[in-house]
Amino acid sequence: MSLPLSNEFVLPTNKEVGATNHPEPDNTCTYLCGNSLGPLSKRSSALVQEELRVWGTCGVTGHFGTHPHGRGWVDFCDHITPLFAELVGANEKEVACMGTLTANLHLMMDSFYKPTPERYKILCEARAFPSDQASNPPSRPYAFASQALAHGLDPAKAVLEISPRPGEYTLREQDILDTIAREGTSIALVIFSGVQYYTGQWFPMQSITRAAQAQGCICGWDLAHAVGNVPLSLHDWGVDFAVWCTYKYVNAGPGSIAGLYVHEKWKETELPKFAGWWGHDPVTRFAMPPKFSPIEGAQGFQQSNPGILVAASLLGSLQIFKEAGMMQVLRERSLQLTATLETLLKQSKYFVPVEEAATRQSTKPAFTIITPADPKSRGAQLSLLFLPSGVMQSVHDGLTGLGVIGDERRPDVIRLAPAPLFNRIEDCERGAIVLERVLDSLA
Ligand SMILES: *Cc1c(COP(=O)(O)O)cnc(C)c1O
Repeated sequence: MSLPLSNEFVLPTNKEVGATNHPEPDNTCTYLCGNSLGPLSKRSSALVQEELRVWGTCGVTGHFGTHPHGRGWVDFCDHITPLFAELVGANEKEVACMGTLTANLHLMMDSFYKPTPERYKILCEARAFPSDQASNPPSRPYAFASQALAHGLDPAKAVLEISPRPGEYTLREQDILDTIAREGTSIALVIFSGVQYYTGQWFPMQSITRAAQAQGCICGWDLAHAVGNVPLSLHDWGVDFAVWCTYKYVNAGPGSIAGLYVHEKWKETELPKFAGWWGHDPVTRFAMPPKFSPIEGAQGFQQSNPGILVAASLLGSLQIFKEAGMMQVLRERSLQLTATLETLLKQSKYFVPVEEAATRQSTKPAFTIITPADPKSRGAQLSLLFLPSGVMQSVHDGLTGLGVIGDERRPDVIRLAPAPLFNRIEDCERGAIVLERVLDSLA
């Protein structure tokens, strides 16, 4: 199938997203928000409907061989793991379809974050996703800090954040590598997001992984904004573990079932500590023998039987990735779309170069792009920073009113992400035109 596959998706209309100022309420809106919540695919919709019917017509027998579509629920995820493996560049034993991102992150940190008096720090990027790490205020620990606390450590000392240099918005690779080299012997775990949710920066994953491991640290990744967005080679890069959700670029639906990866080198040593029956050898799983014998690899970490309705939705969306040719094909198209959007935005009379943004004094509305300009350091998303502070909300409302759906990140950022599966060049053009019109109306 050739891209874009807009016809494979159900995209909301202008009216449905509240674009009250759009002259054509029944036309499809300009959906540039697949980074936040991917749209519904017709395939997902059909598969969920099928599973609902199987539930209604087969009841408990749907678990096994009587499933009329050959997707018995006991091994439903066996249809998903090969596609997951391809999507993240791993072998099938290294991936599991299970749980939700943050729960999987805790499971992984429980296995892989083993602080000692000498080596106890967690290194992450400043402004990591608030659910992973929020340093402000420190009294409210999220995932990373709560893991430190669970080991009796003070998060203020144990969680080490790297910030961009003053006046800059993204991290320099050398600064990350220097920090790892300098602090390495005290760091237990290096964990970054693959693609930073706020800035859209795609971190140099292989070089960070290598540098971390050279210092004896474990290296894990939160791939929420990377999976389905950029090509990944987790196995070849030697990544120790990774987690991801599937409702952003993977389009599996709100809160859908998530993914987990553990490098095969850990299969002998890192056994699941919080075992559950679903991680037990499937041959004897339903017999529940007294001794737990985990599935080798990532799937041994499964605890519960998976939600079939969300897994069906995920299967549908992964089949579309497969038919589109997976990440190499999508990446090529993505580079084209994002470059087009960037070029058009930079032609705006309101655009200011990122180097001037931090010191700009004017009170007239303007914007810059804080996402790295180098395509190798970003995925689909461009993060627009609006100036002066406070103007972003009006811009966002103006865009929505005219049917351009991006998403706001307070205080000053709007993220626009042309997704290669369903967005067209015309979406980039319309996004840029409408932004100009909205800024004209505010100027
Ligand atoms: C979206 C996102 C999450 C969300 O976690 P859930 O457990 O799925 O709610 C976590 N981390 C990052 C970096 C994200 O972008």
